Amino acid sequence: MTLFEQLFTPERRAENERKQAALREKYGHKLEQNPAQANYVYGLAREQMVLDQLEAIREGTLEADDERQQQLYTQLAEGLALQGRFEEAAAITFSAPHKEEYRRKAQALSAAGVPACTCPREVTEASPTDAKGTTRPAQVQFEEVWDGERMVAFVRCLLCGGVGAEVS
Ligand SMILES: [Zn+2]
Repeated sequence: MTLFEQLFTPERRAENERKQAALREKYGHKLEQNPAQANYVYGLAREQMVLDQLEAIREGTLEADDERQQQLYTQLAEGLALQGRFEEAAAITFSAPHKEEYRRKAQALSAAGVPACTCPREVTEASPTDAKGTTRPAQVQFEEVWDGERMVAFVRCLLCGGVGAEVS
């Protein structure tokens, strides 16, 4: 079964609906107060919307040229990435820069907790007020993603650009 086919099963769609309902029941409005969780809910809804359109195209009730279909797959990938499903997103998107970014995040996530690089954890810069310079962390968190169960914080190393993930 291809990844595309896996996405189109009625079971999969029913599962999405079930997930959304379960999340609302469990977290209610609190869910959308956290940006990562709000993104997750939006990602699920976006996935659903695109799947509906792709299904309509397959059934012939909606017309779309190749370019439009590729846009839909790229949107679907965005919806999946918002849910922390980076591997699937990388496989589906037609956008090369996004594919690269999703791959990097999928890789970081599969090695969560493992440092992205061996660079020093802190950098010291010259300071006009302190002869010893100023020290700051060499890694900055640039994104937080919720995958329905876990909170994933992505960090990037300022020295080499390496991406790491921490799961809580
Ligand atoms: Zn580094």
